[in-house]
Amino acid sequence: MKDLKHLYDLEQLLQECNNDLVKEACEKGQIAVGDVCSMIPEVLLNLPGCFSVRLRAPRTGSIEIGTYYMTSLLCEYCRALVERAVEGGYNFLDCIIAPDACAAMNRCVENMELLKTCEKEKFFVTYSDVPMKSDETALKHYVRQMRLRVLEPLHDVYGIDVSDAALLEAVEQHNKVCRLIRELGEFRKEEYPRITGYEFYIFCLATYCCPKDMLLPILEETLEEVREREPDQEKTYRIRVLLAGSEIDDLDFIKLIEDNGALIVADRHCFGSFPGRDEIKICEGEDLLTQICRHYMVTGQCPRFMNTEKVEERKDYADRLAKEYHADGIIYEQMKFCDYWGYERMAASHIMHEEYGYPVLSIDRPYVVGSSGQLRTRVQAFVESVEIKKIQGGR
Ligand code: SF4
Repeated sequence: MKDLKHLYDLEQLLQECNNDLVKEACEKGQIAVGDVCSMIPEVLLNLPGCFSVRLRAPRTGSIEIGTYYMTSLLCEYCRALVERAVEGGYNFLDCIIAPDACAAMNRCVENMELLKTCEKEKFFVTYSDVPMKSDETALKHYVRQMRLRVLEPLHDVYGIDVSDAALLEAVEQHNKVCRLIRELGEFRKEEYPRITGYEFYIFCLATYCCPKDMLLPILEETLEEVREREPDQEKTYRIRVLLAGSEIDDLDFIKLIEDNGALIVADRHCFGSFPGRDEIKICEGEDLLTQICRHYMVTGQCPRFMNTEKVEERKDYADRLAKEYHADGIIYEQMKFCDYWGYERMAASHIMHEEYGYPVLSIDRPYVVGSSGQLRTRVQAFVESVEIKKIQGGR
């Protein structure tokens, strides 16, 4: 297939957290909000006058300083963020708005704050209590927390407009991005997809890491390009997979999977399009912030939600996606030492195999996989086993 016009530039942009689009927005006086988890409604961090940047630590090498502050028994993603912060990599931020979602991330952001890694005069950090259950009582608390820990500080420190009109504007922009990303992702359903999982991933990841208004024209142009694109007339993959898991912001990890013959047709992870790029539906007659928080609570697929309905729903959700995108198997991954995903991955990889009948590859991985030979071998073996299964008619 012909190369996509913006792919290379975005790949380069994603090599830096403080990338050229972020720099341009900061120069225009926009407030850069550091975001570390989907439990804070992203749309609240993208009100007019500010934009969110999901923190990553691309091209991480050693994480010794991060390990010194965090110990070697916490997730490498969090350690890599501390390392990058100490190196001055997040100095462009005006604030970090973090949830008390997992203890590791909590320690990570606390370290960034205590070590004074961001030097802007008005820089601040907030932490908020986010729900572990999805019900109306949890929602009330969630709404209060978002008002106290997100909207009020943004307004009080930086004068950000947090009125309903501003919230609506942010929702509209979010929905535009979602529609474009989802439409782009739909092409992965085709037998000869006009976009690979890797290409799609680059565009989707960029939506978490760049100012959305600057990305919109790029997404629009790319969608047009993909609509017109001639797909390869031969299959360039051996099997189709759903990739499910936690923080996947490592381009090499996606490349490694696809280079070994497994096309990623659906992405259900913290930097993926499911559920992060679900449109927010707003109706009249109810407080806007409540509707926004409900959306994130109801659509959220994080294993932090521990009520039985949510636990069951997560398996059905993966099953539905796998069917819709014609996946032959599922890859469940987790970051080493992540408690939430440790349980989720372990249980799901059995249940999705035993009860739902999918071939499942279960991986725990470091933050950066590089060209890991061990992982390559495991993906190759998985691809072969799924192929054999298909030849044997699913037995
Ligand atoms: S991967 Fe797990 S431990 Fe790491 S930040 Fe995410 S939820 Fe927390």
